[in-house]
Amino acid sequence: MPAAVFFERAFQPLLDYALPPRCAACGTIVAQPGTFCADCWSTIAFLGEPMCACCGVDLPTVIGPDGLCGACLATPPPYDRARAVLRYGDVGRAVAHRLKYGRRLSLAGVMAAHMARLIPEEERAQALLVPVPLHRWRIWSRGFNQAALIARHLGKRTGVAVEVDLLRRTRHTPPLHSLDARERMRTVSGAFALARDAQARLRGRAAILIDDIWTTGATATACARLLRRGGAARVEILCWARVPRPGD
Ligand SMILES: [Zn+2]
Ligand SMILES: [Zn+2]
Repeated sequence: MPAAVFFERAFQPLLDYALPPRCAACGTIVAQPGTFCADCWSTIAFLGEPMCACCGVDLPTVIGPDGLCGACLATPPPYDRARAVLRYGDVGRAVAHRLKYGRRLSLAGVMAAHMARLIPEEERAQALLVPVPLHRWRIWSRGFNQAALIARHLGKRTGVAVEVDLLRRTRHTPPLHSLDARERMRTVSGAFALARDAQARLRGRAAILIDDIWTTGATATACARLLRRGGAARVEILCWARVPRPGD
């Protein structure tokens, strides 16, 4: 299916949003709700092959379905697959910020429409969508957890069950981007916990962790480790945008 047709169909259910429709990134008036203006669209870097089969990092050449990057070969991550729709740039940042700080809640649906195609049809019956939790102070001040909003839209779109209380954040963590890898792991370790009945809910299921932005991967990796320990048969991470590693 050509990309333009896919996106037209993907966004049809969003037609009931307030008129006039505006670009999801810059707010310019556009023809269809939930779409991007031509200028924004032309700058989006969608992520795709060739990439590491596990962590999804860009690789220079196609190396087949089992091709892993050096980092995943050296230290296998606690998840089976991590994917994001686009490289974090002006559009990825604008959509995420307008949702989180501008309270444009419908943008969670725009993100979900793009993220849904990264959940293979054949995996949906066994899967669970698990949003990365926010600390309750953050939910009180913001009023919502953007990852949970995205997961709910994804659940409606794909039919995959959504588990918003399977993981919880037990303490607030400061921004991680200025810390080195070891400090980040130390900061996030112990910041999350599984629900008491998580083992029964995870057994035999593919847990798909949902977040808006993959920055350092430390938070998602800590959550993935817990889901794996909780007995999930498979653990995946699915984000809207991914910040490239230095040198990518
Ligand atoms: Zn735009
Ligand atoms: Zn990798």
